[in-house]
Amino acid sequence: MNFEIWDAHTHLSGVPGATPEARMAALLAAADRLGISRLCVFMGMTWHYDPTPELLRQANDEVLRAVRAFPDRVFGFVYLNPKHPQASLDELNRCVRDGPMVGVKLWVALRCDDARLDPLVARATELQAPILQHCWLKITGNLPGESTPMDLAALAKRHPRASFICSHTGGEWARGIRAIRPHPHILAEICGGDPTAGITEMAVRELGAERVLFGSDAGGRSFASQLAKVLGAEIPAAARQLILAGNLQRLLRPFLQARGVRP
Ligand SMILES: [Zn+2]
Repeated sequence: MNFEIWDAHTHLSGVPGATPEARMAALLAAADRLGISRLCVFMGMTWHYDPTPELLRQANDEVLRAVRAFPDRVFGFVYLNPKHPQASLDELNRCVRDGPMVGVKLWVALRCDDARLDPLVARATELQAPILQHCWLKITGNLPGESTPMDLAALAKRHPRASFICSHTGGEWARGIRAIRPHPHILAEICGGDPTAGITEMAVRELGAERVLFGSDAGGRSFASQLAKVLGAEIPAAARQLILAGNLQRLLRPFLQARGVRP
């Protein structure tokens, strides 16, 4: 392939290896087979739905080890739990302000329209760090703290200068895309779920190609199945390149430039 591929969403869980370094090496070896050059990674080797401050630090320490082992290929996002606002601010400062992490990951501890997110979003915005929020609309009902794309739209409305990523495009993507459409500072990241035809085409049509990001969710999902959503989509070549790397490069550029890193 003659274009770059950056993956906005990978994990250290579901990957073989006894240490974060070994798991990161295994992820990169698999990414290499598909020409994926850079990976964003977040959350530790074991996942916690509602982590205590101590478990947050442990998860982020594991990601720091993975990033430091492969600094030219891996970007870390700091995992936070808004139920612990001060501990989360401390982690944001420790891992992003003091480096080397570049973004924030929020999962299912608390629905993201909650006011407890506001100080975290404000601080991430000051640091020019994008916020990747897990969003899903489950036919069986969401977890108590699990956000919908509508929740993210409500949060984004309160923070017009922040930069958000709607992970999984809400799972039920046909509704997720419509929920985030009015908010240009929310990008749709298409990882997870089965590689359904039409997700990428609809996202490009409704949001514009510059608002769509490739992510895999490896090791929970394979790189190949998720890449197929983009490589198999009936979209222009220029759109494909934006989705596979160009948009993530643009999103991280202010942050990396502020720290003297050439993206
Ligand atoms: Zn994930």
